Amino acid sequence: MNFKYDLHLHSCLSPCGDRDMTPYNLVNMAKLLGYDIIALTDHNSCLNCPAAVEVGRKAGITVVPGMELCTAEEIHTVCLFPELENALEFSAYIRRNIPDIKNDEEIFGEQLITDSEDNVTGKEELLLTAASFISIDDAAKLASDFGGTAFPAHLDRASYSVLSVLGFIYPEMGFTAAEFTHKAYLPQYEEMHPLLKNMKILRNSDAHYLENMPEASLTVDLPECSAKALINALK
Ligand SMILES: [Zn+2]
Ligand SMILES: [Zn+2]
Repeated sequence: MNFKYDLHLHSCLSPCGDRDMTPYNLVNMAKLLGYDIIALTDHNSCLNCPAAVEVGRKAGITVVPGMELCTAEEIHTVCLFPELENALEFSAYIRRNIPDIKNDEEIFGEQLITDSEDNVTGKEELLLTAASFISIDDAAKLASDFGGTAFPAHLDRASYSVLSVLGFIYPEMGFTAAEFTHKAYLPQYEEMHPLLKNMKILRNSDAHYLENMPEASLTVDLPECSAKALINALK
């Protein structure tokens, strides 16, 4: 069955995410826009996933717990997990593997943790956009060790993408899927990087603001609309 997806969204926990981008608002907006399955992927943290998954359960839309990991090379990599438990364990591990730099709210913005009804329950103190100590060579294996999967983010972007940082993608990275923006012209990339032809290509919005969430259009073929089925399909 085909399900409409967006597997790269930020909440108010990301310092660059809008304050209105609460788990409650973004999941309900996704529902209104016609999505069946979305992933919450804040920078280096999964701490708003419990709220988002709960809102999803109430709204009748599948929310995959995830994270946009910033590797040591400053390459953004989306990590997705079948269960909240996996995601939260991964999140705790990553928190121990990011530099001890405090977030300056004046410069970067707040990093808010909320419950499923928009109540602010906490703030992340460490700056979440900092590069972690995890290498791009280890990201896929690490996500897999925690039961999940990972794919390199926004390959056609001029910054924080594996192609902009390294210039190439190689099989030893262990990625089976890759993400482009909606406007990328794929044949151009496949010609330069033939490895992409054997990978599942996803296109996600990477929205940080409610108004930047596009109407659902692209679909993924899954036996059922669940995080587990999605991760199996991407592996
Ligand atoms: Zn990114
Ligand atoms: Zn992002």
